[in-house]
Amino acid sequence: MLKSLWAKFLVLLIAVVAIGLSATFLLRELMVKDFRVYLEGEREDRAYWVTAALESSYDKYSGWREESIIENTVWAMMLGIEMKLFDTDGTLIMDTDMAINTLSPFVKKRVMAISERRVKESDSPFSPYALFLGGRQIGTLEVRFLLPQKEKVFIRRSNRFLLISLLALGGIAVFLSIVFSRKMTRPIKALTSAAAAIEEGDLRSRVGTSGNDEIGRLSDAFNRMARKLEVQEALRKKLTSNIAHELRTPISAIRGELEGMIDGLISADKETLKSLYAEIGRLKSILNGIEDLSQAEASSLMIRKVHLHLQPFLRNITERFRKASMDKGVSLELSCDDDLAVGADPDKLSQIIINLLSNALKATEKNGRVWVRAMSGGDKVRIEVGDTGCGIRDSDLPFIFERFYRASEGGLGIGLTIVKELAEAHGGKITAQSSYGKGSVFTLLIPA
Ligand code: ADP
Repeated sequence: MLKSLWAKFLVLLIAVVAIGLSATFLLRELMVKDFRVYLEGEREDRAYWVTAALESSYDKYSGWREESIIENTVWAMMLGIEMKLFDTDGTLIMDTDMAINTLSPFVKKRVMAISERRVKESDSPFSPYALFLGGRQIGTLEVRFLLPQKEKVFIRRSNRFLLISLLALGGIAVFLSIVFSRKMTRPIKALTSAAAAIEEGDLRSRVGTSGNDEIGRLSDAFNRMARKLEVQEALRKKLTSNIAHELRTPISAIRGELEGMIDGLISADKETLKSLYAEIGRLKSILNGIEDLSQAEASSLMIRKVHLHLQPFLRNITERFRKASMDKGVSLELSCDDDLAVGADPDKLSQIIINLLSNALKATEKNGRVWVRAMSGGDKVRIEVGDTGCGIRDSDLPFIFERFYRASEGGLGIGLTIVKELAEAHGGKITAQSSYGKGSVFTLLIPA
């Protein structure tokens, strides 16, 4: 039963109510006890008034005088005391009933009216008090107290109050546990069924989020996780089919040439072997590219940022392209503020710049221009790699950062994918602008 949240809430609330009620019960017991102690003291006082009055009457009349005893007994009755007076030899001299019966009907009615508000504690015994005068016992007084109505009312009311509290609080506990558990378990149930749907393969399954409490945040996190899973799954499918597609072309070429050789249609001369060798080189570079790509994807978890002075860092990289650009007849320029610095992983950042520079140089013909420009942009650093090369068609531009996407012959179409992965791993962004036939500018923004 305790497996469901509802039951747990119920138990919790009932426990809280039980603690509250026990505190109330304890308080009530203490109050009743104090009330009784108070009454006890007050009764003792009353009993002593009666003994003192009887002793002084005995003293005054030098013995038990009936009228005086009757008067005292009636007073005692009106004080809430039922009494019996015994002589030293144990004979009953007077009791409450006898005293009342001697009264005139009018006074009797009055006394009874006063006493009627009190109820007899029928089961309580009489307690004896010895009466003394001058060190000598003159008789025994036995008294028993009539229970005042208000004491009964007090106890009855406190009992009723306890019972009502028990029922009301118990009811409220059950009601609240139903309402709260419904409210809290609804999103959890939604999460459970969404997770089950994902397990079944429906990666589009999401939960409606509500509120900013822990469950709301859990739902948000769940949705983000599901979205990521969906994207990852789509990428995985695309990657698999891309790899198969990329590998099929060189493998078919190799197979075709080998079949030709086996059938004797193609001679196994140096030229054919060279072309086979080139195809195998292509296979190898595809595999290397895939390896680079998966490393770049994993690198978001392994970025080691250091404080980098961009000027010397970028100069170092551009110098590596100096010879190639001169061979091609392309000018290569670098402009960067002296004191510009950035927090970045040097290996990954140089991989980004190298990929962009080699693309730019590849796209640019003799007498063209390739440049690297770095500048500060508020809390970001902006690094541009531009060229006056062939440019990219508008129809290709939105896809150039996708895996294996090529806008021209040659290459694998993964260089820019790697650039994008690495830029995002730095918390940065890469964008491209291009005008077909005129040139392109790739802009990297990374947090300073
Ligand atoms: P690859 O690894 O084959 O170079 P990239 O991912 O680096 O692929 O680039 C994707 C495509 O974008 C390339 O096929 C190329 O056509 C185009 N491209 C990239 N950079 C430039 C550039 N600077 N100028 C013109 N085209 C470019």
